[in-house]
Amino acid sequence: MADASEAGCPVCGAQVMETVHDSKTGTSLSSLCQILPGAKIVRFCNACGHLAGNGVADAQSFYETDYRILIEDEDEDQIYETRDDRIVTRTDHQMALVLDKVTLEPGSHVLDYGCAKAAMARKLLDARPDLKMHLFDVSQMYENFWDRLVAKDRQAVHRTPEAWDGQFDLITSFFAFEHIDDPAGAMAHVARLLKSGGHLHMIVPDVFGNAADFIVIDHVNHFTRPSLIRLLADAGLGEAEIDQTSYRGALVVTARKTGVTSSEATDTGDISSIGERARALSAFWTAAAVAINSSEEERDTAAIYGSGFYGAFIYAHLQRPGAVAGFIDRSPWLQGKKLFGVPILAPEALPEGVNIVYAGLNPAIAPGIIEAQPWFGRDGLRIVYLQ
Ligand SMILES: [Zn+2]
Repeated sequence: MADASEAGCPVCGAQVMETVHDSKTGTSLSSLCQILPGAKIVRFCNACGHLAGNGVADAQSFYETDYRILIEDEDEDQIYETRDDRIVTRTDHQMALVLDKVTLEPGSHVLDYGCAKAAMARKLLDARPDLKMHLFDVSQMYENFWDRLVAKDRQAVHRTPEAWDGQFDLITSFFAFEHIDDPAGAMAHVARLLKSGGHLHMIVPDVFGNAADFIVIDHVNHFTRPSLIRLLADAGLGEAEIDQTSYRGALVVTARKTGVTSSEATDTGDISSIGERARALSAFWTAAAVAINSSEEERDTAAIYGSGFYGAFIYAHLQRPGAVAGFIDRSPWLQGKKLFGVPILAPEALPEGVNIVYAGLNPAIAPGIIEAQPWFGRDGLRIVYLQ
């Protein structure tokens, strides 16, 4: 494995990037917990602070056919958090943020860039039926959802019609840019579509707020504050606000099309620490795999709390995955389904015979969740955390 890659930085074009992570595994998980061939490799750009992933082999067919995010049910959603037993979904929280960050005149032209099944566009239209909503993505498989929402001339797949250039007051993009091979080209596209003075409101994962982002193979970009500022500035977007606190595990970006491109806009302040923090993430995941393997005992009956990414990571690393009696998940949308053929159960339904529970949760919040369970402290029950 060479230290430097031949491919340049997808944000700033710097020739040399340094490899900071190589899982050296035959398979990797996707962000939807599919097991896909290939190791995950992350490279660091010392010039702009970007972290780039190696990506999925044959990405185009992956997004056309395999990337079925919550496609089964229009109302299916993912939990952001629970407040006093009330479930707040990700789209609820995203909706609150966009309304807070952006002021929209009546009849504004809005484009959701990388909209998937357009759940956010639907939510925005419910609240603001006056908006002229448009939809763009790189897959045709969402068109049934789109047709229920907007006319065909407000839908675009792969490329946008010329008539859309310079038309938009607001472009939103929720968890799309981390999948895009050429983020600089896509941001230039966004800038072309915006009116002069129009706004971009974008959310991308924060690799330093959500460690899972680091190892999923379909995330080819792990944006950092300086790499985002560089990406925006090169496209002529300024007045950038990068909010690292309003959305757990994500960066909420707002910027305005000022038309001034400035490659000097890189905030070099924290670039030097990013490489170090990325190496620490690499060490975390390596140690997590060791923690899982070293805790396994032959006669275990196991449960994995969390049927999201961390739970899948645990399952994929167990020597004896057959010992897993169930995944445990709070989400009513997931209970009763299966992951890797194993049933997903409500927390109250932990089977009696289980003697080991793996905490398949974001490590930052895992102890608080596990210790609140009715079975926590049960005689002979071992809990394994990823760190
Ligand atoms: Zn760079």
